[in-house]
Amino acid sequence: LTAQLRQAQKIEAIGTLTGGLAHDFNNILTVINGYAALLLRKVPDMKTREILDHIAEAGNRAADMTQQLLAFSRRQVLEPKVIKPEEAILRAEKLLRRLLPESIRITLACRDRGGKVKVDPGQLEQVLINLVINARDAMPTGGEITLATQTVRIDSRFAHSHPGAQPGNYAMITIDDTGEGMPPEVMERVFEPFFTTKAAGKGTGLGLSMVYGIIKQSGGYITVESTVGAGTTFSLYLPLVEEDLHPDEERQEEQPQPPS
Ligand code: ADP
Repeated sequence: LTAQLRQAQKIEAIGTLTGGLAHDFNNILTVINGYAALLLRKVPDMKTREILDHIAEAGNRAADMTQQLLAFSRRQVLEPKVIKPEEAILRAEKLLRRLLPESIRITLACRDRGGKVKVDPGQLEQVLINLVINARDAMPTGGEITLATQTVRIDSRFAHSHPGAQPGNYAMITIDDTGEGMPPEVMERVFEPFFTTKAAGKGTGLGLSMVYGIIKQSGGYITVESTVGAGTTFSLYLPLVEEDLHPDEERQEEQPQPPS
């Protein structure tokens, strides 16, 4: 548990550090990219336009990275809506399938009646895309991905052994793959920005940082389990909105105590 706590504190510290930096860089990049776009509209000379194209391209890449860092440090503007997570998954299904080669099968499963969560649908889609891309990259010779939803309760025991988790009712989205898995020393660091085991140019190490930030900013929690050679499961917990609390539990929590 102390190792887990240390890990959680480390991620929070990196978040604070990168958040400020990403915010300032984002403002500077807005200026650079804005003027590059302006010049591209004004300059007719082809040679100069080519140079400007390079500037705009690099600037956009940098802006993408700062956006992901802002998401990681929970400094991004979200537009949360009350939605059913399984509906968001169904809407993203086509897009997710397009990311996968024929050798990888993806199965969607809704394990119970479900419930509603408050989340930015576009960001949730981004989360799913990142997780599916990672699952794909972990299965170079093919395999299976299962994307499932289920409502669960985080009790105080689970919360106690998982630093950062709050007791309550959640929609749990799991992304399961039959890929190469990861050893503990990789698993420990996956949410750190710029941590990647992929070849240069293949990964930025920002995907899971972004996932982490979006889920945290939505009041949720994320876990990862993995076995080398067998596969990996990411579980996203998003708090259920009030109307989906079990009536009994709602009464317990909301009814004032009778005077004694
Ligand atoms: P990137 O994909 O750019 O490397 P991420 O932050 O998305 O950055 O992932 C960080 C690292 O976590 C990956 O490089 C990989 O080592 C590991 N990883 C993430 N998802 C999985 C997975 N499903 N199976 C095995 N390893 C994974």
